[in-house]
Amino acid sequence: MHPATRHALYRRLRDATPHPRSELEYSSPFELLVAVMLSAHTTDKSVNAATRKLFPVANTPQALVELGVEGVKPYLRTVGLYNAKSKHLIGLSGQILQRHGGQVPRERAALEALPGVGRKTANIILNIVFGEAEIAVDTHIFRVANRTGLAPGRTPLAVEQALRRNTPEAFQHDAHHWLLLHGRYVCTARAPQCGTCLLADLCEYPHPNAAAPTTRRAGTRGARRRRTA
Ligand code: SF4
Repeated sequence: MHPATRHALYRRLRDATPHPRSELEYSSPFELLVAVMLSAHTTDKSVNAATRKLFPVANTPQALVELGVEGVKPYLRTVGLYNAKSKHLIGLSGQILQRHGGQVPRERAALEALPGVGRKTANIILNIVFGEAEIAVDTHIFRVANRTGLAPGRTPLAVEQALRRNTPEAFQHDAHHWLLLHGRYVCTARAPQCGTCLLADLCEYPHPNAAAPTTRRAGTRGARRRRTA
């Protein structure tokens, strides 16, 4: 993809959602860390349903350690892999208390050393909490980056590195949110909405819906091509 096209793509995503936010509910860095850890292999909606009950009871490392693994399980039953995640949550809380004075660490190595925390979760925390230009690659971002041609790669790490190279600096901080929301609601896995996608004329994916004559009225294609990016 040409650099000017990448710039145009991000500019459209930014114009459509100038202030993107995580759909996970949280009110502190620690709550966000817990929510992101819980969101692996499950939806944000399920996580929010669980944390709405959990956080009023325990939303600090100390309170969660006191609740313990068995105490936390009933709150996480709607979340996938809740047995393992309950153990991770209590282990993570204990480690934050013992090694980091009860605060979410800002170093990648320290974050990735926490139980249940991998590169993707660390990137989200570094990005949202500490304002670093990290782009966490989940299944949605992996798909959008490859389909559009923005940052092709065979693995999440390869896509992350390509995004880092191919994302203009002005868009790096919010790129994660824009690409995730686009993948979740427009460029979906089974039925991408190419016919109405605001990136259709920039995207390299062979999207038959957008190209079908019945989906474009006379003049529409030209208008789309001429649209100021
Ligand atoms: S045109 Fe289709 S494939 Fe390309 S980003 Fe939009 S929805 Fe995804």
